[in-house]
Amino acid sequence: MAPTPMMQQYQEAKAACGDALLLFRMGDFYELFHDDAKIAARVLGLTLTSREKGENAIPMAGFPHHQLDSYLGKLIKQGLRVAVCDQVEDPRQAKGLVKREITRVVTAGTLTDDSLLDPRESNFLASVVVASSGRSRGGGSSETPTLGGDEAGIAWVELSTGRFFAGRFPAGLLADHLARIQPSECIVPEGADPVPEHLRESIVVTSRPAWCYSAETATESLCKHFGTASLTGFGFDDDDTVAVRAAGAVLEYLQETQKASLDHMDRLVRYRVGQSLEIDEATRRSLEITRTIRDGRREGTLLAILDRAVTPMGSRMLADWATNPLTDAAAINQRLDAVDELQRDPALCRDMTDSLRGIYDMERLLARVTTGRASPRDLSFIARTLRGLPHVKAKITGRKGERLRQLESQLDLCPELRSRLESALVEDCPLSSRDGGFIRTGYSERLDELRELTSGGREWIARYQADQVKSAGIPNLKVGYNKVFGYYIEVTNAHRDKVPDHFIRKQTLKNAERYVTPELKEYEEKVLSAEEKSQQLEYDLFVELRGVVHACARRLKTTAAVLAELDVLVSLAMLARERNYCRPQPVADPILSIVDGRHPVLDVLEPEGTFVPNDTAANHDEGMILIITGPNMAGKSTYIRQVALITLMAQMGSFVPAREATIGVADRIFARVGASDELARGQSTFMVEMVETARILNNATPRSLVILDEIGRGTSTYDGLSLAWSIVEHLHDKVGCRTLFATHYHELTDLEVSLGGLKNLNVAVQEWEDTVVFLHKIVAGAADKSYGIHVARLAGVPQEVNERAKQVLALLEEEHLDREGRPKIANRGKRKSGDLQLTLFGFEEHPILDKIRETKVDELTPLAALQFIQEWQKELRR
Ligand code: ADP
Repeated sequence: MAPTPMMQQYQEAKAACGDALLLFRMGDFYELFHDDAKIAARVLGLTLTSREKGENAIPMAGFPHHQLDSYLGKLIKQGLRVAVCDQVEDPRQAKGLVKREITRVVTAGTLTDDSLLDPRESNFLASVVVASSGRSRGGGSSETPTLGGDEAGIAWVELSTGRFFAGRFPAGLLADHLARIQPSECIVPEGADPVPEHLRESIVVTSRPAWCYSAETATESLCKHFGTASLTGFGFDDDDTVAVRAAGAVLEYLQETQKASLDHMDRLVRYRVGQSLEIDEATRRSLEITRTIRDGRREGTLLAILDRAVTPMGSRMLADWATNPLTDAAAINQRLDAVDELQRDPALCRDMTDSLRGIYDMERLLARVTTGRASPRDLSFIARTLRGLPHVKAKITGRKGERLRQLESQLDLCPELRSRLESALVEDCPLSSRDGGFIRTGYSERLDELRELTSGGREWIARYQADQVKSAGIPNLKVGYNKVFGYYIEVTNAHRDKVPDHFIRKQTLKNAERYVTPELKEYEEKVLSAEEKSQQLEYDLFVELRGVVHACARRLKTTAAVLAELDVLVSLAMLARERNYCRPQPVADPILSIVDGRHPVLDVLEPEGTFVPNDTAANHDEGMILIITGPNMAGKSTYIRQVALITLMAQMGSFVPAREATIGVADRIFARVGASDELARGQSTFMVEMVETARILNNATPRSLVILDEIGRGTSTYDGLSLAWSIVEHLHDKVGCRTLFATHYHELTDLEVSLGGLKNLNVAVQEWEDTVVFLHKIVAGAADKSYGIHVARLAGVPQEVNERAKQVLALLEEEHLDREGRPKIANRGKRKSGDLQLTLFGFEEHPILDKIRETKVDELTPLAALQFIQEWQKELRR
């Protein structure tokens, strides 16, 4: 049987939306059919019904149209793509089948609806392509991207604000940068998907045809979009082709899925590697900067502690600062100056916070204006924001710090726009631009006239009702209105016999009849047309106003960025003051000197005053490598993480939880901490640990900061210890960077004998009655090695077991120490220059050695000596 015209319309829409689920508007419902219906029924818990009967039955599921947002959110969360097909003409006016069109395709990375986004977080769509550096320059539509090349192009855009970035990265750093950007969706060339498996849990990956990534198409479409002849103005040159290809594919994808204007994406920012502190993916995770390791939540992270911003724009910028700290001491100091100045004036901070609370999310509002999706309410929010600006500006006028002065001068009050919006819009504007009621009286003479006519018409109706009640003698006669019949006169059945002849019956209800009269119809037309006209005029005025705001978009964008930054700076200043932070001193020399440092998160979460502060000193005289030993739960991990977090905070321009801090600006932070989370991801713990360690050893520079926790734990003791030993030696000899190494391998403390730049620290503990008290205090020297046995005794392990353990320990130490009581490893493992054969534990005795020792050389003939050598060789070859 041929499909009905409507199902034919459905099939056409379905064919146009690719693999997206199609939500098909039918009356007051959105319906899904066929497999889409089955998926939606499962994901959304809808009842699966069917359209048509018997053989022609089509699975169907649907929901009321006003629930679109919540259902869309659920579908997107499941990683699905959804196309929304709406009725694009008024069903009352449609001749035949109502016209329907796909009005938008929604995916995780292209969400813009406020209700579906966390206002504090950016929602990025990314695009990646990998190419060998030679090939990436070629371009041409026949070019097929290949995996395993050595360069990755990444572009990322936030559709809700229009921020658009692209950069070129070593392919090996792809995962690190995707982890930094945290996109919710990533597009990739078909058949050449480089997104690492473990990132797919949080990123929806969408394949795009290879041609979308061709260099020529990309350059052409980007230039056309920006209205430029080339991309050099944005800082891209011939070497950046791979970045441009990624960016072009993003633009192409958005043009295809978004039916709205993309005007708000008005520039492409080139991201340069090295411009911010590099933090690889594992480090980001270990340090719990924006997400916790255990459950991936924001609570309990560094960001959650830092974020006191009161606007969503501020929160997003703060997250950006925390994930991209600076490497330029001058720029860091500029931010610190601003925070310093603000934190000295708490009254100003409170005042600024109050003013900023009245500021709306200008970035997202502007994006809606420039893409034509803004509502009258959005425009009124822009007006309210502008109203608050003079106060903010006055507060930051006359400040000393350079950054605050720059921000003050960039804060554009846009007074003409403000007065235009204020004179045009009422205080509480509606969401819909179609039903009128948002333009102020006095703004348009014509509108005022039409409104008068409308309300005048309504008065006439009231009078008419009174007249009819009187003339017909029906006391409860009523004039009413509905959308289908327009105005009518309603008479209850009790008075039906009094209805005059000129009433024309229109509708019969249970208890009443409805009538019209020619007079009523005539007036109805007058009123309705005035109302319709006034609504249309309001809509036109709204479109005009939206255009006026659009024309100011660039200025407003700058203002939005200034407000966001002020919010961040005030937030950091309030935190600094409240938590008693100090201003760090960034220096070029890669050293660390922290007095009374605290872990920023535990400092807040632990009961007031219970966190024990600790010092840190890594420098050329005392050593750059700190080995921290101590029992479990003593606070080793906390200590090394706190050093990394204080460094990171300092470089983002924040005060730090310490009494004093001098921070040598780091180029990279590496953290290899714990391994429990990898187990859950199904990878060999030890392999992961070594991959990450290899990355540190290969990439750390003298300016880096490395923190390592329990390296080598995933293998046998000697194996692990040997690796830990040689890793420390390598960092000491070859890299020379600041390293904090927390370990339970007590043997590592012996390295102090052979390595000059290494210092032993341990965490103090105290025995008190029958328990051990963790003092959490870092002190100089190695931990007491019989500590475990000690704890075992306190815990009630039988006396004889403890005695035996002590004996075994003594035996092990005998093996381990030389006659002078010095560690054998350190002596025998001591390296001479050029000595590559390190022996950690000495080599095994070989029977040949005894033979050599026993040979009486002076009794041997030369020939016998040669025979001996031949024999030894034979034996060794066996
Ligand atoms: P380790 O790495 O030595 O096993 P952790 O660093 O994981 O120990 O610390 C264990 C617990 O001790 C932490 O969860 C925290 O509650 C507490 N702790 C650590 N350092 C401190 C400190 N400086 N002050 C107060 N409590 C601390």
